Amino acid sequence: MPLFRLTCKRCGASRIALRLDRCTNCGKYVCVNCFTNQNGVNLCLDCYAVLAKNYQNRVLTSWDNVCPICKTRGQLQVTHFLMYRPQKTVMDPTGRVQLGQEYYGNITYTLELSCGFCGNNVNGETVGAISAATKAEQAGRYEDAARDYERLGYLDKAKALREMGKTTIVKHQYVDINHLLEQIRQGN
Ligand SMILES: [Zn+2]
Ligand SMILES: [Zn+2]
Ligand SMILES: [Zn+2]
Repeated sequence: MPLFRLTCKRCGASRIALRLDRCTNCGKYVCVNCFTNQNGVNLCLDCYAVLAKNYQNRVLTSWDNVCPICKTRGQLQVTHFLMYRPQKTVMDPTGRVQLGQEYYGNITYTLELSCGFCGNNVNGETVGAISAATKAEQAGRYEDAARDYERLGYLDKAKALREMGKTTIVKHQYVDINHLLEQIRQGN
């Protein structure tokens, strides 16, 4: 009686008692070389690659592939990409809550973007800083604007704004002195 051979649906490897795992995305049974259980994802390598690419493209498209900070197109790059399922927590013997071995729920993603042109990370903090800087500049709060631009690496812009701030202050003083002189003259 012939022994039952098992075949990987991805690479075609075939032998008796071949270990096969089921991809939770496409349902294919694949061999260990064609499978990843990193961070509890349980995927065949094809699905892993497709899901990773899709998510990254989705995020890049959400920015229209334009850096929200320097507005340069096509320079956004993915840094620190992670795909995982959440881990169940367990209580250790001393009653402390720790991450367990078991994963559950949907595949989750974390991703960081950076801009190859201005060198900034694109995240809530930097996007907030550029929008705050723009608003501050429009409102004439030059020192506030300069501080945000400086944080984002725009030293020239920050310097120019500080110069502008100084000029404005000097101008005010000039006006005030004139006004003072006028008052003195009127007093005479
Ligand atoms: Zn395989
Ligand atoms: Zn798959
Ligand atoms: Zn940029």
